[in-house]
Amino acid sequence: MQMRQLFDKESSTYSYLLWDKQTLDAVIIDPVLEQVERDIRLIEELGLNLRYSLETHIHADHITGAAQLRDRFDCHVAVHENARAACADVWLKQGDHILFGDNVLKVLHTPGHTATDICYLAADRVFTGDTLLVRGSGRTDFQSGDAGQAYDSVIDKLFVLPDKIRVYPAHDYNGMTTSTIGEEKRLNPRLGGNQTREGYIRIMEGMKLEKPQKIDVAVAGNQRCGISASEGLVNQAGSTLD
Ligand code: FE
Repeated sequence: MQMRQLFDKESSTYSYLLWDKQTLDAVIIDPVLEQVERDIRLIEELGLNLRYSLETHIHADHITGAAQLRDRFDCHVAVHENARAACADVWLKQGDHILFGDNVLKVLHTPGHTATDICYLAADRVFTGDTLLVRGSGRTDFQSGDAGQAYDSVIDKLFVLPDKIRVYPAHDYNGMTTSTIGEEKRLNPRLGGNQTREGYIRIMEGMKLEKPQKIDVAVAGNQRCGISASEGLVNQAGSTLD
């Protein structure tokens, strides 16, 4: 599996372009609207066939580039079924498989940050969205967040994976790009070192975080798979959607 990790500075979001070396079939995970021209250029430069645009969850901090990628490449847009996003082509659930060339991504439903969270597991790596960050985890205090559920998702679905599996998160605010399951089991300050469920809930409930600036516009936009170019809407997050 070939991979390119892409970054959006404003929202500190990582997008991942994955492709099969032989067939050039590709998927993108968590594209960002403001970076969609960059992503389209890269996909075209590499001669890839974009099959899927995959979301790890309904984001509150940025709008997805999914609809514009679908406009351009006729790819399938996929989200978890809990997102109730009628705009999607595929509604994913635990155990589903995404195929591109000889590669497989297995869907792990990992609710807790939101009810729509998915991790995508490949042979040697896992794309963890906001479920597990490098030395951190996604907040659980808005949308459909639930700290206890988030703990269960990490412990039961991620920390059972082999230690050497690489972790690729949806965000990083400290310049870190990747980690491993073994490293996070040992060193994650919230979840590592055999943290208890009660301990994790206490940490998450004690956090006093500001509401994301773009939450209203981003969640509404993402339930529509972003903003399709054909809708003729202004392409900037923070602008009016209708
Ligand atoms: Fe998030």
